[in-house]
Amino acid sequence: DALGPTVCVGEILVEIVATTVGDGFLEAQPLVGPFASGAPAIFISQCGRLGGKSAMVGAVGDDDFGRVNTDRLKRDGVDVSAISIDPDYPTGSAFVRYRKDGSRDFVYNIATSAAARFGWSQTVGDLIDRSGHLHVMGSALSVPSAREVIDKAVDIVKARGGTLSVDPNIRKELKLDEDTERRFSKLVAMADLLLPSGEELERAAGVEGEAEAIRRLFEMGVKEIVLKRGADGATYFGRQGDRIEAPAFVVREVDPTGAGDCFGGAYLTSRRLGMSQKQALTYASAAGARNVTVLGPMEGAGTRQELDAFIASTERRP
Ligand code: ATP
Ligand code: MG
Repeated sequence: DALGPTVCVGEILVEIVATTVGDGFLEAQPLVGPFASGAPAIFISQCGRLGGKSAMVGAVGDDDFGRVNTDRLKRDGVDVSAISIDPDYPTGSAFVRYRKDGSRDFVYNIATSAAARFGWSQTVGDLIDRSGHLHVMGSALSVPSAREVIDKAVDIVKARGGTLSVDPNIRKELKLDEDTERRFSKLVAMADLLLPSGEELERAAGVEGEAEAIRRLFEMGVKEIVLKRGADGATYFGRQGDRIEAPAFVVREVDPTGAGDCFGGAYLTSRRLGMSQKQALTYASAAGARNVTVLGPMEGAGTRQELDAFIASTERRP
């Protein structure tokens, strides 16, 4: 990553998790947290832990929930100089409880929290001017402040020879307004690496069927695609029709949140550190699998050493 750090822009949150399975938050109940969270923050935490130069753009409040996040990212080796501290708004939060069927109830405070209150500044501009890679989460596009930063940053990073990765992270049913949809398609088309999961592949391509979607995305300009399939593993697709299967590691899932973000952060960082697609897939699969074995959205993100140990000691699905 000689060109400069990997930068991720977006929401920084704490997550507070119900310790019992059931429906919602209408009754007093045991909770555990705060855990550092927010998809972009999980991604960049994994980049830092794996030893990639990395930096985060976003905002927290002047409170302990904010410090949980900035302390955590600092410890991971992430440059936090472009995380601003909002004097007036609290750090963003998400309360989550799992239902019996695996679906989740949420109580969010994001749009009216510090998480959504940042924008282009001298500090952000200075960071982007020396960055080598930008990672964009589709979910961040619905935050106007993040959108502004991403719009400017992508052009600057690309102009200096840097690269772009995109995790669409947009559910198939989600309708975006016309403007956001246009921005989303433009970003997808510019992506050197696209990291969809499940149906997000078809959502990003705008067509039905896996093979058709892959073809369409390459036509749009995408350079490389890694499709995440949860406990079923992942698949790499190259423009030449090449394809690599990455079987999942066999683990006991404790908390599925953050698997995709750790997978993406580890894949991207491994590639930027010069590894082959195959080796990057192994680290990525290990990062995703290891993270689901620990409670908390990024608590299981592994260092290079931890992932090497995990790979050596864990079976892969046939
Ligand atoms: P997120 O909930 O973070 O958005 P995602 O849907 O983007 O996740 P997943 O496909 O769930 O991403 O997970 C990414 C990768 O992590 C998978 O491709 C797989 O390699 C690994 N992984 C996820 N869940 C498991 C699991 N239960 N067992 C083994 N590996 C897993
Ligand atoms: Mg995802």
